[in-house]
Amino acid sequence: MREIKHWINGRAISGTGGTRLPVWDPATGEQQAYLVAATAAETDDAVATALTAYPEWRAAPLSRRAEVMFRFRELVDAHRKEIAGLVSSEHGKTVADAEGEVARGLENIEFATGAPHLLKGGYSEQASRGVDVYSIRQPLGVVAGITPFNFPAMVPMWMFANALVCGNTFVLKPSEKDPSVSLLLADLLRQAGLPDGVFNVVQGDRVAVETLLAHPDVQALSFVGSTPVARHIYETGTRGGKRVQALGGAKNHMVVLPDADIGAAADAAVSAGYGSAGERCMAISVVVAVGDSADPLVAAIAERVGRIAVGPASDPAAEMGPLISREHRDRVASYLDTAGELVVDGREAPVSRGPGFFLGASLVDRVPTDSPLYVDEVFGPVLSVVRVDTYAEALRLVNDNPYGNGTAIFTRDGGAARQFQYDVVCGMVGVNVPVPVPVAYYSFGGWKSSLFGDLHMYGPDGIQFYTRGKVVTARWPDPATSEVDLGFPKVR
Ligand code: NAD
Repeated sequence: MREIKHWINGRAISGTGGTRLPVWDPATGEQQAYLVAATAAETDDAVATALTAYPEWRAAPLSRRAEVMFRFRELVDAHRKEIAGLVSSEHGKTVADAEGEVARGLENIEFATGAPHLLKGGYSEQASRGVDVYSIRQPLGVVAGITPFNFPAMVPMWMFANALVCGNTFVLKPSEKDPSVSLLLADLLRQAGLPDGVFNVVQGDRVAVETLLAHPDVQALSFVGSTPVARHIYETGTRGGKRVQALGGAKNHMVVLPDADIGAAADAAVSAGYGSAGERCMAISVVVAVGDSADPLVAAIAERVGRIAVGPASDPAAEMGPLISREHRDRVASYLDTAGELVVDGREAPVSRGPGFFLGASLVDRVPTDSPLYVDEVFGPVLSVVRVDTYAEALRLVNDNPYGNGTAIFTRDGGAARQFQYDVVCGMVGVNVPVPVPVAYYSFGGWKSSLFGDLHMYGPDGIQFYTRGKVVTARWPDPATSEVDLGFPKVR
């Protein structure tokens, strides 16, 4: 059986010591490969390799680092289909969805090619007599990324494109559930001219994560995954003096006002609720139907849900694939029947009988807000509907939720939408847009329990995160005016 290897110092290497972990084909339910989880010693090796490569890479001219990113962009573009195919084969998402993931990742590489502009500092001539002050940004050193299963290509690109172009060296610990694409990306970086050791991959589980978290040579950690792990990474990493950005889970609400176009809102709810089988941190999980929008909206969603084609990525007609694992599928299914009125029961879909980890799309109306179905991040193809009478009640629901990743409002009323944008306690907001993932030249991040740390991911915040500021105050003295002065430096 195929081993999915580590990537250290510019080549793939077999794991030696740790536990063997299976990599499944979610469409068939069969094991297709395995990895040998990195031991602490192997993880240390990856960090040591990245540390050795750092001085040379940091010294590489900005234009050279950007050039590598330009070449990498061309290679990722040329290998779109191969990358998407690999994502689909281990994650289970449809090929079209995986191609969308690659396209959004590509935007981050394109952004990174512009880093020389973003790394320009400020300069103040004559801040005092004969004194100039200027600011520069410098890389941090070895930085690490720990990524989730649901975007195995895009989320690593959110991190390493900016980190590398800023002059850092990188250790990636991908999800152990769909690890292959990390090796393809590593090889494309090599082909793009990235020197050996600058980008490394350790396959594994929490052993590797804890080693990176405790390692004195890892300066910063970017994490994307579930909230409990994000909190742990943030608290442990920052206690150890590291810079950390840790993005967690979500429970995204889509508010539909009575004046909304019900057909368009239903299309959006179905696309955002069931796309990628609901395994997106920006998926819509709860539709909040305000006033008399509820009956026609639930009917329109139910009618569309019945038409979703569920099947393996190998079937070009499939619109929704399986879930990532059998345990996750069973956990998602366990929420059905526990609360509200089951309008569409995905367990009855023929694909739900297997093989593979399939679960048909489900719709539950009148979900009580104290039920686990409402409270938990379900992360599957289950859309909940909560009915409220007023905009104020809808807003309170969103704002009282412990998560604050994404939200959306559907209305024809520009004033209501603007008020929502102003009032809502959430990091990313859609106005008649259900999955408002920011383009790469903004930054991605939620509020509350969806993000621990100060800086969002990618875009301008990404450049800030992977560099630190230094301010230089310089005088080229005229010996004739030099004198001792014990007072605090004044500028006037
Ligand atoms: P996860 O938290 O289980 O795993 C994420 C990473 O952490 C993986 O690499 C995993 O190996 C590692 N990990 C898991 N448990 C660990 C532990 N106890 N100690 C140390 N490391 C551990 O998340 P997942 O199931 O892979 O991904 C789904 C979750 O990610 C969802 O909650 C989803 O909302 C979230 N997510 C959030 C965003 C965002 O931008 N906010 C984006 C994508 C996914």
